This record gives sequence, C-alpha cells and structure tokens, in this order.
Amino acid sequence: MRIGIIGAGQLGRMLALAGYPLGLRFTFLDPSADACGTQVGDSIVGAYDDPQQLQALANCVDVISFEFENVPVDTLTNIAKRKPLFPPVNALATSQDRLLEKNLFRTLGIATPEFKAVDSLTDLHAAVSSLGLPGILKTRRLGYDGRGQYRLRTVKDIEAAWQALGGVPLIYEAFVPFTREVSMIGVRSSKGETAFYPLTENTHQNGVLHLSSAPFKNTTLQTQAERYLKKLFKQFNYVGVLTVEFFVLGGQLIANEMAPRVHNSGHWTIEGSETSQFENHLRAICGLPLGSTALRGHVAMLNFVGHIPTSNAALQQNGVHFHDYGKQARAGRKLGHATVVAGTPKARDLAVKKMLKLLPKTKSKATS
Ligand code: AMP
Repeated sequence: MRIGIIGAGQLGRMLALAGYPLGLRFTFLDPSADACGTQVGDSIVGAYDDPQQLQALANCVDVISFEFENVPVDTLTNIAKRKPLFPPVNALATSQDRLLEKNLFRTLGIATPEFKAVDSLTDLHAAVSSLGLPGILKTRRLGYDGRGQYRLRTVKDIEAAWQALGGVPLIYEAFVPFTREVSMIGVRSSKGETAFYPLTENTHQNGVLHLSSAPFKNTTLQTQAERYLKKLFKQFNYVGVLTVEFFVLGGQLIANEMAPRVHNSGHWTIEGSETSQFENHLRAICGLPLGSTALRGHVAMLNFVGHIPTSNAALQQNGVHFHDYGKQARAGRKLGHATVVAGTPKARDLAVKKMLKLLPKTKSKATS
C-alpha cells in the first residue's frame, strides 16, 4: 500500500520511518521542497489546497492521512470523496476551532476550563467580569505551541490583549491552576479496534513541549482519560491516532485541546512502547490489527527546539535514542528529540538530568 500524507514535517517523517517495515510506501504533499519528510519518501510540492496537486496525490496513493491540523477542511472534504482519508474530516474541523472543540467536550461530559466566545472588546470585558482573572485570551483558529494567546493578569491587560489579538474570533478561558499537564494518546482502527497508551506527563517552555515522561501512573485518571477518548471515537466514528491534552487539577482531568493525529508527546512510544503511535496510526488507517501499547520501561523524551546537539554529543550518553529531523536550525523550530528508556523511575530521572546537559545552558530547566 502507498500512503499519502498531507504535510511533510517531522510527524510525517516519523510515520514513514515506522511504515517501511510494514511494507508501506509514502508520498507527501507539502509546499516546501525540502520539508524533512521528503528525505524519506516521494513528494509532491504544492499548496495544501491546490486541487491539481491534491488530485495528483489521490491518484498515486491508496489511503490519505495528514500530519498537522491547519489543512483547509474544504480541501480535505473533496479529497475524501476520492480516496479513504483518516482521521475523519469532521474531527479535524472540530479541532481547528477552540470554541467548537470546547463545546463538543462539554456536550460529551468532558470537563474543560470555563470559557466564553469573544468577538468584540465589549465581549472581552464581559468575559473577564464573568470568569475573572487571571485568564487566557486565545484565537479560536490557527493557534499552536502557545501562539495566538495572551495571558491577562489584571483588568489593565484587557486593552493590550485586544490590541494583540482582536479582529479574529477569540475565546477567553479562565486560567486553570493545574498541578500537572498530561496527554492521552489513543488509537481506533477502521475495524473498530481500540488501544490506549499510558498517560504522559508533559512540561512546556514558552508554550512549546519541552519534556514528556511516561507512564504517569494514576489508575483513576487513566480510566477517565480512556473513557473521554472513547466518547470522541464514537462521536467521529474515528480512525487513527487521537491525542487529548489535559490539565490535572484536584485529582480531575480538565481537557485543554485535542489533536486528531500523532503527537509530539507520544514520540517516546518509538522506543518506549511495544508499538509506536506512528505504527499504530498506520495500522489503524490500513485496517490492520493494532499493536500492543505496553511499555518497555520508564520513559522520557526531551525536545530539541531551536538548537540540536551533535549526534556525537548525544550518543556519548549511554541509552540515549537520538532523533535529528534533518532540518535547518532556526529559533523556536523543533529540530529533533532524544528518548531514554529506563528500568525504574529513578533511573529514568537520572538519565533525564544527563540529557538536559545536551541543551544550551540557558534552557536547561525542566519547568513549564
Ligand atoms: P494551548 O495552545 O491551548 O495548548 O496552550 C499552550 C499552553 O498554555 C498549555 O500547555 C498550558 O501550559 C497553557 N494554557 C493554555 N490554556 C490554559 C488555561 N486555560 N489555564 C492554564 N494554562 C493554560
């Protein structure tokens, strides 16, 4: 089978690398001729909404998927009429709009932060009066890795937040004083089989994922998160990997957002799980049996953002699995990651300490 992937970033690249052992082949569609996925598959250079290039992609593959969320939904709806396309377009459409997403979470009984839609400065004043401070103003669409967000601490911030983001549909969310951030990655195949990874604990720096570790052991929260994902699977008749990011507060999960795709917080599954999220996504969309999500140990993944150590430096540390995405370095760009798999949480945390030394000195703190 040949898989078409819309987008040729690192997620597409890791999908292809997971798919070759299964005999799968890959064609990417990406506007950039040197996107890092193109190093490991055929590629069509074109805009995501270019009908001709999409047609060309549909013509040469058996099934289509996407590796990021900002693909125009109309584009995908058209292409889905020609070739099987997973995850379903309606899941993507919901994830593209924070208001739709949170409304759906609420309808399904999935807890979210308090929120209000904001379309004017008056709305923002009203939202702040109603939900209080601190809070976060976010663009409903096209925000990721902390972009398109403004944190409000006092009423004086209202004007500045509006100046920074006003003019597009927004959402104001009450700030959740969470104790941790976790993510749940689950997968449902086109045959209806499901599997779930253990919860992953995540810390962020400047809104970008910094460090993930698994398993985050909490049976109650694991069960709750799996229940939430099952509701979403049912809602969308879902096929593929689905990720939901949660805040943990007072022993409860509060859903922040969902991503209908493989996820950065699941990169550790490549070495840390019997079957990686990438392989399971491919198995799911090809109608193959899903693989075990059992852990191979206590795992941590460190992202290299804006700076990547040399392979020589990274590989000097015993047990480090080093991933260089083959990208040009640029500030804020995800360039690679490293994973460690250890026998105990203590050994894992020790390995993380060493791994953090691979980062430039100013960025060596594992805090959010
Ligand atoms: P997002 O782009 O929505 O995933 O937000 C990026 C990061 O901002 C999250 O991982 C949290 O660390 C933080 N954040 C977003 N929304 C909230 C919220 N309502 N309360 C507290 N922190 C938040």
